[in-house]
Amino acid sequence: MYNAKVEYKMSQSREDYVKYIYEFGQGDRVANKDIAQGLSVSPASVTEMLKKLAEEELVDLRPYQGVRLTDKGNDLATSLIRKHEVWEYFLVNALGYEKSEVHDIAEILEHSTPDDMAERLAEFIDYRADWTAHD
Ligand SMILES: [Zn+2]
Repeated sequence: MYNAKVEYKMSQSREDYVKYIYEFGQGDRVANKDIAQGLSVSPASVTEMLKKLAEEELVDLRPYQGVRLTDKGNDLATSLIRKHEVWEYFLVNALGYEKSEVHDIAEILEHSTPDDMAERLAEFIDYRADWTAHD
């Protein structure tokens, strides 16, 4: 049976892995133990998720050498980061939130925002890429 909640949680955690590998690795390979530590999950969960991500061609997985994002994985990571930043810009500049309040909200919204919605939102609020809520 289709379960939207489980499905959502899975895509969220899958995207969290991709974003973590992008940010932590900076283009280099990331060890499984660093991912386990960074995301506070068990090494077994990391192994399982990395296999799935490799099947989707989001990561290049080498036994004992860790993992690196593919071009497809890089595109997903940068798209999530852009959505995150557009939401933060919107929340602060259109809705009047404090910069200190918006990160956790954006962490949730970035996973449920279709690409074209992010672009429409960016245009609607005159998003500036040089602005950041992360001081
Ligand atoms: Zn943030």
